[in-house]
Order: sequence, then C-alpha cells, then structure tokens
Amino acid sequence: MSFKEIRAEIGADKILAVSKLQPAQKIRDLYEQGQRAFGENYVQEALDKKDLLKDLSDIEWHLIGHLQKNKAKFVVGQFALIHSVDSLELAQTLSRQCENKQVTQKILIQVNLANEESKSGFDKNTVIADWTKLCALPHLTIEGLMTMPPLTETGEEVRPYFKELRELQQTLQKQTDLNQHPLNKLSMGTSNDFRVAIQEGATLVRLGTILFGARN
Ligand SMILES: *Cc1c(COP(=O)(O)O)cnc(C)c1O
Repeated sequence: MSFKEIRAEIGADKILAVSKLQPAQKIRDLYEQGQRAFGENYVQEALDKKDLLKDLSDIEWHLIGHLQKNKAKFVVGQFALIHSVDSLELAQTLSRQCENKQVTQKILIQVNLANEESKSGFDKNTVIADWTKLCALPHLTIEGLMTMPPLTETGEEVRPYFKELRELQQTLQKQTDLNQHPLNKLSMGTSNDFRVAIQEGATLVRLGTILFGARN
C-alpha cells in the first residue's frame, strides 16, 4: 500500500510516520508528499535529524522510544509530543527539566497492557494509582495514552488491548481536569495492526515499515 492510499483511507492527521533508522532523505521525500508528523525512537538520532531537516519549517517531531531519565534534559522543548512517558519518576524529571528551560511539554502516558517484561510502560494499576501525582506536575500537559501491544501475525489478536486502552482513557478522563490535561489522544497501532487500532479509536497510528520499507 502506498502512503497516498493509507492517507486517503485513515486521514492525514492520524498518521505518525516512524522514521527511526531511516535516512533523513526518506523523511524529506515523505514530507514532500505532504506528511508532517514524524516519530523517532533514539534521542541523539532524532536531534541529529531535526538539525539536518531544520529547513522544513512546519515538520513536527515526536519521541516514541523508551527515554532514560538522564536524557530528559535533552528532549524537553524539542518534541511536539513525547509518547513514551513510562514512569512517575520520568515524568517528575521531565517536569523539573521543563522548569529549568521555562517550557511546557506535551506528553502521552505509555501503558504496558500485556505486562510484557520486555516492554516499558506503566502497568494499568500503577497509572491509576499515580494519576493524581502525574496530573499535578506543573510543566507537563497529558494529552493522552500510548500503548505498544505484543507483536502478532494478525491485528485482530491485539484488538482487546486497543479496547482496553480506550476504556482506561475513559476511566481517567472522569478523574481529570480536562482543561489542564485534554487526554483526548490515543497513540496505538503500527504497520501490522493500524486498521484495527483505527476501528478502536486510535487518533494516531505509528507507521514505520509500511511507509518507509524495512529499517537498516
Ligand atoms: C518502530 C516502532 C513503530 C513502527 O513499527 P512498524 O512495524 O515499522 O510500523 C511504532 N511504535 C514504536 C514505539 C516503535 O518503536
């Protein structure tokens, strides 16, 4: 499937093009076809590409990979949205770094719904337990939730996780001042399962391979 077909099917505003390990030229090519939001996993690679592509004035960079606390100072204010806030300690560190830099950072809370050891993210019960503290952090705006379900052959097998993320969003919305933290975004679905994710209410699907081909 081509970029144009996917865009026609799900809408331009729902596509985050995941460009990790892809050369800057491929990002430029997709930008020229109209894509604006790009997601990167590794901080240094992302900052290098931002610099290489700084002539693209309205490009939008998202950070989607696991973030170590000691890198927080390099990322605040550099990304339109950080999808991978996976612990209260990381959120607290990001908020402190925002204070230093006098910026506000938009974030998503990453939830590990299958409790996979290999994946980062809050467990569901921990998000609920930490929610008041997360919402109280002064320099972060929580825009929604992100999940990365287990890899499967068919998207259908991950439908329950996408449903569960949407239900968790609804539960948390009831406990949130939505003027402060809109909590209206759901970042879920990749090349394998984006259609199912859209059916279950994804507002952003993170598409790598299907847009750029295999990674180096
Ligand atoms: C790499 C990555 C993707 C994209 O995966 P594809 O299968 O290439 O579409 C999406 N989300 C995260 C968090 C990733 O690390």
